[in-house]
Amino acid sequence: MELLNEIRRLKRDRNALILAHFYEDGAIQDLADFVGDSLQLAQFSQKTNNPVVLMAGVVFMAETVKILSPEKTVLVPDLNAGCSLVAHSPFEEYKAWKDAHPNSILVSYVNCSADVKSISDVICTSANAEQIIRAIPPEKTVLFGPDRNLGSYLQKKLNRPMELWPGACEVHVLFSARKLFELKHAHPNAPVLAHPECIESVLQYADVIGSTSRLLNEVKTNPAKTFIVATEPGIFHQMKKARPDAEILQAPAEGSCACNECPYMKLNSLEKIAAALHDLTPAVSVMPSIVDKARVPLERMLKITAGTPIQWH
Ligand code: SF4
Repeated sequence: MELLNEIRRLKRDRNALILAHFYEDGAIQDLADFVGDSLQLAQFSQKTNNPVVLMAGVVFMAETVKILSPEKTVLVPDLNAGCSLVAHSPFEEYKAWKDAHPNSILVSYVNCSADVKSISDVICTSANAEQIIRAIPPEKTVLFGPDRNLGSYLQKKLNRPMELWPGACEVHVLFSARKLFELKHAHPNAPVLAHPECIESVLQYADVIGSTSRLLNEVKTNPAKTFIVATEPGIFHQMKKARPDAEILQAPAEGSCACNECPYMKLNSLEKIAAALHDLTPAVSVMPSIVDKARVPLERMLKITAGTPIQWH
């Protein structure tokens, strides 16, 4: 309680906004001014005037806020909070892939570095990826990266061939299709909710496939009493708050580990949040030349999401 009061005091003193992703621990989510998925966090950060934003999430999320609002100090509690998709899309190789496909439209999932964003034509999140791809003229070749599972899901759903970059989320690929089948068999009335970063053999058992906000909304609105959820378990906090009467079951991973917890999201803690607000560090920095270029595809994403038509090259 003392620590929470200290964070609230520092937040007031710094005029800081605290944003938290659904995959953070429940105590961090409860402390935040706003909790959401990647798209919601990016949208919300644009609506506020706080000079300091603390992103309880991973570094690419903090960089996204910085790119959209470069005048703000954007803190992350732990600079080691990376993401396997960022690690799987090194800039030079990703650029060579783009250069090998001239006249294509490069759609990059928001889970990528600021450098990668700067050479992308448009960014998407799992919440708006379908809308973004649909907005691209059908005669254009689409390059999609860095998540091959999301890309493959979109290809099938939209019946649109795309060139896919071979990255993956190290957390979502661990769900076991075999064990999910057994769990579904044991709970035949429980809808299976899955994030599209999961592999195809897991997605084939899903009744609902969508972003964390979409899955949360399903739990809020579907009268079922049990749900099986294939995504990072941090989201269970909001699901249980919204539906205390419902049972939320974690889709199982192979083995008996808790390896469906994102090790990067879980690097954050209340202690690190207090220290970051106290010292105003660590803060993300993005070179101004990269900010200018990376803001273009991010703003395109926000415009398409808001229903504004876009000119493509
Ligand atoms: S859950 Fe996967 S995609 Fe999300 S931050 Fe962790 S490693 Fe990256």
